Amino acid sequence: MKALDIKGLAKTYKGGVQALKGIDLSVEEGDFFALLGPNGAGKSTTIGIISSLVNKSEGSVEIFEHDLATDIVNAKSCIGLVPQEFNFNQFETLFQIVVNQAGYYGVPRALAKERAEKYLKQLDLWDKRNAAGRELSGGMKRRLMIARALMHEPKMLILDEPTAGVDIEVRRSMWKFLKEINEQGITIILTTHYLEEAEMLCRNIAIIDKGKIVENTSMKALLATL
Ligand code: ADP
Ligand code: ADP
Repeated sequence: MKALDIKGLAKTYKGGVQALKGIDLSVEEGDFFALLGPNGAGKSTTIGIISSLVNKSEGSVEIFEHDLATDIVNAKSCIGLVPQEFNFNQFETLFQIVVNQAGYYGVPRALAKERAEKYLKQLDLWDKRNAAGRELSGGMKRRLMIARALMHEPKMLILDEPTAGVDIEVRRSMWKFLKEINEQGITIILTTHYLEEAEMLCRNIAIIDKGKIVENTSMKALLATL
């Protein structure tokens, strides 16, 4: 099954910036996929549309065969989003942040608490569960964003520049974790402007530049051309 199927996707922001000029993109279930491109290429806009935070201008998006235009609730429940900004409540505790997130998706409270323990432990945040979000280091905040995104057990995790501003040690442990959950079956799509990051992690890749896909291939094939 296709985890993501995008056809003819275009976005013009108010003010006239054409962020996406008609892109086609498809990602198979189970893939580890990178959307690579320089700043301003249209990566965040693409992710914003997939996660229905940004309205598209034209085109279609299907998520696990659920059309975003007609079946948004089912489409959204397939996605766990890790945006660039730390958009959690800085005054809540980590435990509250992840349990409340599960609540938004209708996960019963007892199950939400079990999952909170599981994911906070997996991401090395369990000792900090009673700390407030604002007390965390940058790397911990990133990991909290990932734990929060997993609380409704989505089929696909989407990460926007997941290791931006993270030191090398945290970056390596995040990479290891992402590889593990991908091996357990979660489809992963990330954006990055580091080729090295895509190289370390991804099987397939699309390169976006000025709102157009300029390359869409396997990581192996791409490396063979460099
Ligand atoms: P939409 O078309 O999805 O409704 P808007 O064009 O209304 O999006 O923009 C959303 C917000 O982002 C606005 O408040 C706008 O001021 C702000 N914004 C404008 N330019 C940029 C930019 N280059 N990067 C990020 N945000 C921007
Ligand atoms: P990337 O994630 O690859 O850096 P973006 O999708 O953030 O690229 O941006 C693509 C283009 O759209 C850029 O020219 C950016 O300035 C513009 N842009 C992004 N968000 C907005 C917005 N809310 N309003 C207006 N222009 C925007």
